[in-house]
Amino acid sequence: MQRLDKQFIDNQWVASQATRTLPVTNPYSAAVIAEVTAGDSADVEAAVAAARRALPAWRALSGTERAVYLDGFADALSARRDELVRLSATNNGKVLAEAGIDLDDAIACYRYYAGQARQLDSRQGQPVALEMEGVEARCYFDPVGVVGLITPWNFPLVTSAWKLAPALAAGCTVVFKPSEVTPLPEQALAEIALELDLPAGVFNLVHGDGQGIGEPLTRHRHIDKVSFTGSNRVGEAVMRAVADGSRNISLELGGKSPILVMEDADIERAADQVMAGLYFNAGQICSATSRLIVHTSIADALYAALGRRIDALVLGNPLEETTTMGPLTHARQKDSVENYLAVAAEEGLSAVRDSRDCSLPEQGFFVAPTLYRDVPTTSRLWCEEIFGPVLCGRSVASEQEAIELANDSDFGLAATVISGDPARARRIGRQLQAGSIWYNSEQLVLPQTAWGGFKRSGIGRELGPWGLASYQEVKHVIGPAD
Ligand code: NAD
Repeated sequence: MQRLDKQFIDNQWVASQATRTLPVTNPYSAAVIAEVTAGDSADVEAAVAAARRALPAWRALSGTERAVYLDGFADALSARRDELVRLSATNNGKVLAEAGIDLDDAIACYRYYAGQARQLDSRQGQPVALEMEGVEARCYFDPVGVVGLITPWNFPLVTSAWKLAPALAAGCTVVFKPSEVTPLPEQALAEIALELDLPAGVFNLVHGDGQGIGEPLTRHRHIDKVSFTGSNRVGEAVMRAVADGSRNISLELGGKSPILVMEDADIERAADQVMAGLYFNAGQICSATSRLIVHTSIADALYAALGRRIDALVLGNPLEETTTMGPLTHARQKDSVENYLAVAAEEGLSAVRDSRDCSLPEQGFFVAPTLYRDVPTTSRLWCEEIFGPVLCGRSVASEQEAIELANDSDFGLAATVISGDPARARRIGRQLQAGSIWYNSEQLVLPQTAWGGFKRSGIGRELGPWGLASYQEVKHVIGPAD
């Protein structure tokens, strides 16, 4: 069994100071496949000190020089793609095709920020148009400093790429804590840093849980910024920790995103998009479109089409090419989703499909793909993020009602609109309160477009130039014109 008992600090693998360890499971077999250190504040101290030492030289490099390393991460991930796809599927439970999409997303992200780092050089020191005669102002983008990056378990190598690539491009040095649930794929980043000869201390990877690593990292006064992706509960705790010292923060949190299917939609194509928006990654997607809002006139036909597709899902070993839905990633997540199903039973929700329609593999953390219709807006299942393969639907009689229902949520991460009229779909999209709106499409995530939420789905944006800006301080140098 693999033992992840070392931390990657200052380009060395050093023994963790912690005595606690945590099991890492294969969610399909439910077997323990590795053991990871729970980490300790002494590990954090060493990692933050290494990152601080590395900062002056790293920030002094040009963007073009830093871009070489980012291209290096993209090349190295490409070279290891097959191995990492299998590792991700094994540790996370996602099917091979989805793990492949993840790897390609991560590679594209490092590549994109290599380009952004190169462009940064020509953006430095640009004059600002002023209305005052005889005065000159120039604009510079400095790195925020030493950043603490914390990620969840649902998209290994992706959520880390979205933080690490722009942070390194901006000239920040990094202490990264991956999820203790999926530490295996992320381990590759440290191996790649060594292969690339990334200067020591620029990238430090500390394994552990919230208590061992997350809390001391977010409290640390020499961490200038924390970028966190995860649950609202933990995100709020991180915010409180970062408030001490008035430090910088970005948060990517939960969602309860809607998918609106209008009466002019093609039913079969709409059903495909609804399936892709919810049953991908067994529903463990922050942007899962888990609230289906469908026009009354096509509701019966759409539910019938969805039922057929749910029946056709193949639940099983994520490593087999024929499997289309894997298990949930860990036992606690399965318990959490099953609690929601118990609430649904108490509330008497009307199931189009549930566990009675599906025989689950005998092993693993599986939950049957479930679909409820006519779910009351007061139901916990309608309002709360479930993070599993559970879709809730409601019917509406008009476009306006659909928009109001879509926006009636504490969250605002994403939304999808399906309509036979693309102009109408775009117009509806403009009225929705969410950071990413797809129309007549699956959830395309592109490194050039921003990722992040309205309302309680987060603070700030990742990806695109906004992702780079979140690791930069803007500086103006102002004085008499020469
Ligand atoms: P989580 O909040 O339990 O954990 C996230 C990370 O925080 C883990 O690395 C964990 O070890 C760490 N952590 C736990 N306690 C901590 C503390 N007190 N201080 C600092 N760090 C701590 O989330 P999860 O269960 O791993 O992931 C699921 C959640 O992530 C869902 O709510 C999902 O919506 C969200 N998510 C959001 C996005 C997005 O882009 N908005 C993307 C992926 C996941």
